[in-house]
Amino acid sequence: MRATVVWDEALLAYKLSNDHPLHPVRLDLTMRLARSLGVLEGVEPLIPTPAPDDELERVHVASYLEAVRRAPSHGDDPVHQLGTSDNPIFEGMHDASALVAGGSIAAAREIAEGRADRAVNLSGGLHHAMRDHAWGFCVYNDCAIAISWLLDHGYTRIAYLDTDVHHGDGVQAAFLDDPRVMTISVHQHPRTLWPGTGFASELGEGAAAGTAINLPLPPGTRDQAWLRAFHAVVPGLLRAFEPQILVTQCGADTHHEDPLAELSLTVDGHRAIYRACRDLAAEYAGGKWLALGGGGYNLIRGVPRSWTHLLATVLDRDVDPDRTIPAEWTSHAATLSNRPVPTTMTEEAPTDWTPWGGYTEVDVDRFVLETRRAVFPLHGLEPQNVLD
Ligand SMILES: [Zn+2]
Repeated sequence: MRATVVWDEALLAYKLSNDHPLHPVRLDLTMRLARSLGVLEGVEPLIPTPAPDDELERVHVASYLEAVRRAPSHGDDPVHQLGTSDNPIFEGMHDASALVAGGSIAAAREIAEGRADRAVNLSGGLHHAMRDHAWGFCVYNDCAIAISWLLDHGYTRIAYLDTDVHHGDGVQAAFLDDPRVMTISVHQHPRTLWPGTGFASELGEGAAAGTAINLPLPPGTRDQAWLRAFHAVVPGLLRAFEPQILVTQCGADTHHEDPLAELSLTVDGHRAIYRACRDLAAEYAGGKWLALGGGGYNLIRGVPRSWTHLLATVLDRDVDPDRTIPAEWTSHAATLSNRPVPTTMTEEAPTDWTPWGGYTEVDVDRFVLETRRAVFPLHGLEPQNVLD
């Protein structure tokens, strides 16, 4: 198993503003934590280059690229959603955004050209960006761009799995009518959270009907219920679709302390999710796994631990949850926050889960059934057969 980690300090330039929730300090703290625990020992990072226009235009229209380029000198541009409170304009906006997209393409290329089985770009996962406008903190949709690149480089069946707390609307939109890409998004229910899409009834269009899958979950959902729902829906669909590669968006904003959303997962739950992704890639996608970052606004107590577990999982260097965090990290983190900084890699939350039993037994099962009833028949699967 060979794995690649995309990283360069230049990726920290994707900073929408000093007090924007999507703050690059989370990436810096993650890399510091991973290094302090030895996770990255001997790992030579893959340094990305900015995606050129023709790669960005796989997903975005040329007029939007032009709008992003001119934004710092022209000012607010409501048509392209630039200069809003979600998507403030910043100096070097185009270059920083193109570099993130370049990182995800570089990661995809490592796998497609046989140099790696797995690759991770923590700065990526900007899953909301739309064809012709910025959306939800996201300028260029690196997830969709990397998937499109893979489609042009030998891949004909790609599964995209999005476990961010928000619906992966931009990626779903990019491939809504493309039967070669299955998008699966597990998120907080759209009736309770921006962007208000991602209902079980959104299925894909025409020949692609059944390749957009949405599993919305109620606010307050915790690790064990989340994992029960995930395992009741995702493996069966991957088995039926037979992807050649699994692309995951690993947003950490499902964390219980995240300031922007209301799911209640822990860093232990996140660790279990990433391990499940690795298992699913091994079992259903020939071991090919492209992992991307995503949301995550609990900058010190949440994201760094979760994504260190992600890096460790990608590298097969799993970190024991009980590991104590080295003082070099905690003392640095303490200079950035008034709140207590974490001292171990766990929140001591249970992550064992009871398999779904085919009917409504606990609250989350209602949502499992709704999604399975909407999409399973389109893949020849029985909504209430627990073996499917
Ligand atoms: Zn999110």
